[in-house]
Amino acid sequence: MSARILLVEDEPGLVLTLSDLLAAEGYTVESAGDGPTGLARAMNEDFDLVLLDVMLPGKNGFEVCRELRQHGKDVAILMLTAKSQLTDRVVGLKLGADDYLVKPFEPPELLARVEALLRRVKKDRRTRVVTYQFGNVDVDFETGEVKKDTAPVSLAGKELELLRYLVDHRGNVVSRDELLEAVWEYQPGVSSRTIDVHVAWLRQKLEDNPQNPRFIHTVRGVGYRFAG
Ligand code: CA
Repeated sequence: MSARILLVEDEPGLVLTLSDLLAAEGYTVESAGDGPTGLARAMNEDFDLVLLDVMLPGKNGFEVCRELRQHGKDVAILMLTAKSQLTDRVVGLKLGADDYLVKPFEPPELLARVEALLRRVKKDRRTRVVTYQFGNVDVDFETGEVKKDTAPVSLAGKELELLRYLVDHRGNVVSRDELLEAVWEYQPGVSSRTIDVHVAWLRQKLEDNPQNPRFIHTVRGVGYRFAG
C-alpha cells in the first residue's frame, strides 16, 4: 500500500510542485494550507508522514509539531525550514520532528529524505512494543503504567524511556553512547554516569534481586542488555 503523506504548506506553487513530485513516486498526497488545518488533519487522520512547513498562517510548524507530539501522535514529521540556522533545526528536532530539510531543496533530496524516513518509521513500528511483560512485571509503555506483582510501580519519564529502549532492543547489547543519543538526546550535563544511575533505579524498582539482576544485565565496558 502506498504511503499517505500530508503536506502542510501555504505557498500554492510549492504545494502543486511537491504534490506532483510525490504523487509521481506513487505516494498519496493531501495538503493543508495553514497550521490549524494541518494540525487537525494530522491528528484525526491516519498519515504515514507529515511534511511540515515552519512558516504557516494560524499556527507555525513548530507549534503544530509540538502539539502533535503532546497528544501522543507518533506520525513521522519532516520539517521544511526556510532558514538554515542551526537553532531552527535544533528547535524542530527537540519538539519531536524526525528530520528537517532546508528550503530551497532539490526534488531528489526531498524524495530521498521522505523515503528514508518512511523506511525508518516502518522499522520502528515493527519493533516497538506497547505493552510488555517480563517476570512478574507488566509495563504499558503508552500509559506509563507499571506493575510488579500487580502492585503499581512509579517510574520517572526517563526511566520509562530507558526501559522501553532496552526492551525494544532486547537480546542486543545497547551501548551507553546509544542510550545517550536515543534516550537523553545528548542533553547537556548528561553523562554515562546518568545512565548507570537510571539503570540502578530500574533494577531497584523492577528486579527481585537488584544486586543480581535477571533482566537488565550489565555488559562490562560496553553498556547493557535486556534479557526477558
Ligand atoms: Ca510557508
